[in-house]
Amino acid sequence: MDNIQIVIDGPAGAGKSTISKIVAEQLGFLYIDTGAMYRAVGLKALSLNYDTKNDSNLIAQLMDNIKIDLKHGDNGQQVFLDDKNVTAEIRTPEVSIAASDVSAIPAVRISLANIQRKLAKQNNIVMDGRDIGSYVLPNADIKIFLTASLEDRAKRRYNELLKKGKDVSFENVLSDMNYRDTNDSNRELAPLVVPDGAIVIDTTGNTLEQSIKLLSDTIKERLNCLLK
Ligand code: C5P
Repeated sequence: MDNIQIVIDGPAGAGKSTISKIVAEQLGFLYIDTGAMYRAVGLKALSLNYDTKNDSNLIAQLMDNIKIDLKHGDNGQQVFLDDKNVTAEIRTPEVSIAASDVSAIPAVRISLANIQRKLAKQNNIVMDGRDIGSYVLPNADIKIFLTASLEDRAKRRYNELLKKGKDVSFENVLSDMNYRDTNDSNRELAPLVVPDGAIVIDTTGNTLEQSIKLLSDTIKERLNCLLK
């Protein structure tokens, strides 16, 4: 049998990466966080002082030489940009906005989708993102669309940032998330949509533990059917 592809799409802050990582560990599959790749491109554009909303041509050209590597070890997924470990650096609110801006550029999406498809060929994967089930791996074995209300997602992201000691306001987190939702849903190539055949899971009001259990039970049930 070919490698198994489990894909989890959904808007920012729905808990995709936290939950996908745990479920991948439970299954012994490789977890691939595709948002980290868009964040790496966003970071590179910021480091060159590009205007991430308007310098589309310059950013598209970056894709010819950029080196993005995801390495998997005891500390989970580590992200390398041009051989430098940027795992922590890509998690700031500025990089979130830059990632969302660069993700609307078709050359960026096409280039990253190629890397993602290659990774999926080589491993059993749990891959999370915005367009994995609809565009990158439309024939994935299991497709999940994980969502929650905007307020719930912003609250979770706000608490996460506070825990990391970041000085942020809830209003800013909410408006950043709204900005990213709008960008992601309206771009021309591979917008955020519920992929055909996806199971929609809404975690509004759930605790993290409840969401993990819901997702993990759903995936295991589907996997059992697949492997029978
Ligand atoms: O998932 P995360 O919030 O880290 O993603 C950062 C940004 O990258 C998102 O706001 C989205 O614009 C973009 N993204 C994307 N397609 C993916 C993954 C992320 O457009 N498959």
